[in-house]
Amino acid sequence: MLAQYDLSALKNEMRREELSGRPATMWRYHELLPVRTPQSVQSLGEGMTPLLPAPRLAPKGLKQTAQVFVKDEGQNPTGSFKARGMSAAVSRAFELGVRGVITPTAGNAGAAMSAYAARAGLPAYVTAPEDAPQACIKQAHLYGAEVELLAGLISDAGRLATERAIQRGLFNVATLREPYRVEGKKTMGLELAEQLGWRLPTAIIYPAGGGTGVVGMWKAFSELYSLGWLTESPLPRMIVVQAEGCAPLVQAWNQGSTEATPWPSDQATTQAAGLRVPSAIGDRLILQAIRESAGTALSVSDEEMKQMVHYAAQQEGMLISLEAAATLAAYHRLLANNSLSADDEVVLFFTGSGLADLGLPG
Ligand SMILES: *Cc1c(COP(=O)(O)O)cnc(C)c1O
Repeated sequence: MLAQYDLSALKNEMRREELSGRPATMWRYHELLPVRTPQSVQSLGEGMTPLLPAPRLAPKGLKQTAQVFVKDEGQNPTGSFKARGMSAAVSRAFELGVRGVITPTAGNAGAAMSAYAARAGLPAYVTAPEDAPQACIKQAHLYGAEVELLAGLISDAGRLATERAIQRGLFNVATLREPYRVEGKKTMGLELAEQLGWRLPTAIIYPAGGGTGVVGMWKAFSELYSLGWLTESPLPRMIVVQAEGCAPLVQAWNQGSTEATPWPSDQATTQAAGLRVPSAIGDRLILQAIRESAGTALSVSDEEMKQMVHYAAQQEGMLISLEAAATLAAYHRLLANNSLSADDEVVLFFTGSGLADLGLPG
């Protein structure tokens, strides 16, 4: 289920230049978001995160010239890009008059939903694996959510959320179970185009768990073409990175298949909680975006992610989460094997702040 807009009407009514005077949040694109009444919008200032040039993130020796940029999603409310999806989903749920909202989470989604539910005055319920990052669980508690932990993975938390949603009459905003979160995530793609002066980079590297960020951005680009807001710019190569310990999309990509086989739950091991997702619900759409854009999918180890957390902190003063660090590890790998060159304009999606990981061992 994906939201559709009357893009041909909008094409006649609106010019992209009108955006420049609007507030610096993702709601500047409200015509392309699923909320009808402005009073329903629950905003904490999410989106319009900076697109930062970061040449020193390239491997030493290349750093003077590398065309590498960071979309710094750690600057969103609650510290991750999950704020975008939850701002959209909770706003729309509020507009529809729901009694409360529920989500399963690996960490960040629960924190984000709870914050927006508090803002909207709606009850919030979160289900999570007991090893989800403490900082995220604590945030959800502080925002007043009821949190239920269980032994198992995000997929088990998902089943529990489905049950609790029915029992308690709550609106379930689990990944791709409703069409609104992906609309919020779509704004990452809209912003990228606007921030680059209405063109797109050569490549985007994104750390995929459920993969809705990729699905959302791909949808954004297609809407921008339909609106005539992106004209000559070619599409970027969509590059997906996962953790070696849980890489269902990478496996599917390497096998040339159009859908992903779920990773065996008992073998899903990575400290990058956002990537500990054994089955990506949007697998077909993600694999299609990679294929259509001549992108690729690759996995990196937790050890490489940790090294890159240090590298980003020391080279550019950026404190990033393990998931974000995976994009940097992938960038280095793809430069080393000549899949990318230093002249390629590459955008790394630093999806979350390193603050959430400070409590992790190691
Ligand atoms: C959820 C999450 C991801 C994975 O994002 P999807 O769009 O669900 O694939 C990556 N990084 C961080 C920090 C996350 O919280």
